[in-house]
Amino acid sequence: MAVSIRCADFNNDCPAQFTTPDEGELLQHVELHTKSAHQPMDWTPELAEVVKTHVRQV
Ligand SMILES: [Zn+2]
Repeated sequence: MAVSIRCADFNNDCPAQFTTPDEGELLQHVELHTKSAHQPMDWTPELAEVVKTHVRQV
């Protein structure tokens, strides 16, 4: 079972979405995307926890 997330879930006007086989990999994609596309937003453990609450099983 794969997991998916949309950047728009975080009130971002951003079309990015990611689907990966597991949550750990998904978080890596979101971290990279946050750092590259949403500067100067910081990637923090707290943000990672918020991201996890939006992860959907697909
Ligand atoms: Zn985005």
